[in-house]
Amino acid sequence: MTDPRRYIPALEQLLGAEPILALQTRFGRERTVERLREAVARVRHGSSGDGDEGSFADPAWYAREVEAVLVEEERGSLRPVINATGVVLHTNLGRAPLAASAVAAMARVAAGYSNLEFDLASGERGSRYDHCVGLLRRLTGAEDALVVNNNAAALVLALNTVARGGPVLVSRGELVEIGGGFRIPEMLERSGAVLVEVGATNRTRLGDYRVAAQRDGAAAILKVHRSNFRIEGFTEEASLTELSELARELGVPLVHDLGSGLLLDPGTLRLPAEPRAGESLAAGADLVCVSGDKVLGGPQAGIVVGTAGLVQELRGNPLCRALRVDKATLAALEVTLRLHLDPAVAQREVPALRMIATAPDILQRRAEAIASELSDLGGAKVRVAEGHSVVGGGTFPGVELPGCTVRFARSVGAGDASLLAAALRGGNPPVAARVEDGEVVLDLRTVDPDDDGVLLRRLREVL
Ligand SMILES: *Cc1c(COP(=O)(O)O)cnc(C)c1O
Repeated sequence: MTDPRRYIPALEQLLGAEPILALQTRFGRERTVERLREAVARVRHGSSGDGDEGSFADPAWYAREVEAVLVEEERGSLRPVINATGVVLHTNLGRAPLAASAVAAMARVAAGYSNLEFDLASGERGSRYDHCVGLLRRLTGAEDALVVNNNAAALVLALNTVARGGPVLVSRGELVEIGGGFRIPEMLERSGAVLVEVGATNRTRLGDYRVAAQRDGAAAILKVHRSNFRIEGFTEEASLTELSELARELGVPLVHDLGSGLLLDPGTLRLPAEPRAGESLAAGADLVCVSGDKVLGGPQAGIVVGTAGLVQELRGNPLCRALRVDKATLAALEVTLRLHLDPAVAQREVPALRMIATAPDILQRRAEAIASELSDLGGAKVRVAEGHSVVGGGTFPGVELPGCTVRFARSVGAGDASLLAAALRGGNPPVAARVEDGEVVLDLRTVDPDDDGVLLRRLREVL
């Protein structure tokens, strides 16, 4: 083999070449030089795959290499993805997309100064925790409310505050993993409380709580909503109302970790019954924790609603400072909550709710339009078929939202669909799709209709 130094142009020569001068204008000299040095080093060490001695002597080859790296760098690490998986609240894809008006409010507050902790009437210091409280009280009937970073933070703060290192009673059927390897028993212990396991996995009766409280004492009772799984068959659990009576009797608070944050009537979204924060309070919970970015359809946030005294204690806990919510989050949450004052408006404007409520015939029309645009591509077998989406985000387990999907494959060969799905993720914008039975499956429920054109372009690219 020839010594690469014979055909690699000198760095100065490359930098003076037309296409590389253009890159310096576009990305700056420093960044271009840095990437160019790396490209040259790769060729010198024989680690540059696609090219031969002819291309390694050509400045245009280096320009293409360097441009690809710089463009990728410019796109950044965190970027928008088209979600064609049909999982509405896809935790790995950022959960709930925000309403346009929530995004606008977020941008306005983020770009400048705001009255985040400033009382405009008196000109004195205000509290960030005042924002959203009025709306949360109206929407849930709670005496008071507090917004923190996420539901996990809300739960840790609640347990740390009310249990003060004491025993907390939890049913064995509720010692669950909420996702990403994070488990209720461990979170409870890290919040300083002592876990007291009650009953059995499938059956926990009120009497079990009473026995546990007599045996180990109780500083609080925690009920965790089984949001991401179901247990069926020979099961029994103590109701919130029963637990609240026991909590009164013992003189301790009842904390309900609810999760989903749904404020609308699930029936209007054709979803099965699911307890909501307001109902939970009405049944006697003293504190209820929910997520901002699940079926509430807002930004990542944890919301605690409950009795005035307890919420005030949470606010005064030093841990609250470590879990505090950001101004842009508050701005988006406030708008999302305001949209919920009229359920019809929420269902129309909040993307997650709109997606959940989208009727199958609308999805079918969009799927057929995309499939027909692809029909001229030889080789690929594209078809439209019934399919179902899910709510996701650890909510409504087992619930299928009937819809319609676009399915395609190039060949029956195993692995081809995975290659196509990888190619869809690889381009710009990346598209996340499902692979089922050797086909790529695109579920348009979770694709903004305005993105159908972009999706089509990406499909043409890979097929
Ligand atoms: C989702 C969920 C959590 C965690 O909420 P995040 O907002 O993701 O922190 C905790 N508890 C329950 C019951 C949940 O459903």
